[in-house]
Amino acid sequence: MTAQPQDIRQRAYTKIVATVGPASESRERITELVQAGVNVFRLNMAHGGPEEKQPTVDTIRQVSEELNQPVAILADLAGPKIRLGEVADGCIHCERGDEYTFVEGDEPGGPNELTSTYEPLTSELSKGDNVMLADGTVIMRVVDVKPGRVKAVVTQPGDVRSRQGINLPGVKLSAPAISVTDHMHAIWAAKAKVDFVSLSFVRAPDEVKALKDILKSAGSQADVVAKIEKREALDRLEEIVSVSDAVMVARGDLGVEINVAEMPVQQKRIIRVCHRYEKPVIIATQMLESMHESTRPTRAEVTDVANAVLDGADACMLSGETAIGKHPVKAVEMMNSIAHATEDAIPTLLQRDADRDEYATQHDVTRAVVSGAGLMATQLQAKTIVVASHSGGTALALSQHRNLVPTIGVSTKESTLRKMSLYWGVTPLRGAPACDMQQLIRHADEWSRTICGAKRGDKIVIVGGSHLAAGPDGDQMASGVHDVVVVHEVEGE
Ligand code: PGA
Ligand code: MN
Repeated sequence: MTAQPQDIRQRAYTKIVATVGPASESRERITELVQAGVNVFRLNMAHGGPEEKQPTVDTIRQVSEELNQPVAILADLAGPKIRLGEVADGCIHCERGDEYTFVEGDEPGGPNELTSTYEPLTSELSKGDNVMLADGTVIMRVVDVKPGRVKAVVTQPGDVRSRQGINLPGVKLSAPAISVTDHMHAIWAAKAKVDFVSLSFVRAPDEVKALKDILKSAGSQADVVAKIEKREALDRLEEIVSVSDAVMVARGDLGVEINVAEMPVQQKRIIRVCHRYEKPVIIATQMLESMHESTRPTRAEVTDVANAVLDGADACMLSGETAIGKHPVKAVEMMNSIAHATEDAIPTLLQRDADRDEYATQHDVTRAVVSGAGLMATQLQAKTIVVASHSGGTALALSQHRNLVPTIGVSTKESTLRKMSLYWGVTPLRGAPACDMQQLIRHADEWSRTICGAKRGDKIVIVGGSHLAAGPDGDQMASGVHDVVVVHEVEGE
């Protein structure tokens, strides 16, 4: 058992999700990114299919092995994303009042005709609908609808490029939640044994369930992440959160699909609902946007990351910053450093909503035990909490309490260790005797000294699910024992 290379306290408790792209897919870069603080790598399936992504999965797994550090992989399915087809010369400048016509097929008949990747587009638009282009910077309003031809006039001017996304706020689209391509990508993700699969543009809880079914029947135990980026998802937020394993506040599209001014409050609401249902929540997009080019973020960006941490986000995500930016490693270091500097100010034990218990997903006993263990650790000024978790549930329940005590997660299952990569404050550690209390105490004693700076006489708290209570032979303790908490005094050599 080798300890992780760096002191556990150098790492923020808030987890970092980084998108892999041309700027970050080499083995050297992946290694640097993990060392800088990445816990989860996102593969954006909207750019490149399995052939391109498989080598990246292999590289991440190899690096994780070399560094002896569990790292999770998130395959992000494109979902019903609509894109423009080719536009004349690759880029058109739209002036206010200009008229364009959306047509069927993929061959525009002239410079003022636009095509899309969504076949039924012209039959699903109505007079008065807004068509948002180029991330919401260009807006066209539908003025006339004829079979196969929809005329729209520019109300907000700007440049539009080939294959950019189209957002249609408020338009009920018949597009299936999981396209044939998404389905194929999900099957690949199952085969590649990724840890998380996210679905873009979720509108209803059944869509999340459908993805879970696909993954399960392909033999995958991946957790499903619902990306909240449509009004429909906000309208059914509680139902969607309750069936998802984790949630992403996908601000890129959300900020176009709804009034961008409303987005910060929605972000806080989504986080609150996720806390109530005990689901990890990731805040995504433009967190350190200016670091595409610059080595330093803006003050507003620094504040955005800090506020996400204070709101109770489990993880913050980098997109273009690490995928195509000039300073991917610096962006991760900066995110880690902002989160780290902010975490001490998280109100001790995030106030649990009064009605939270009603929606909680973890077992009553587990929740009571981790809540007690956190209090014990805080009161005893414990140097570390060690949580032994079979499925990850105990670790996730503990993470919900936001104890500012360094927490080591152990498990007999490698896939559980990787899932812990997303759980706030839990540092997964490999190779631990996660089902034998006596051995675990011995290891915990050593880790607390080597990676948490504990000295003889310091306290550590060890929490375990029922598998630990049962012991390696299943009979170490009386039957009926559920979870256990042990307080250990560090002995040293
Ligand atoms: P995307 O999702 O980068 O796949 O669009 C995140 C977002 O919309 O913020
Ligand atoms: Mn999106």
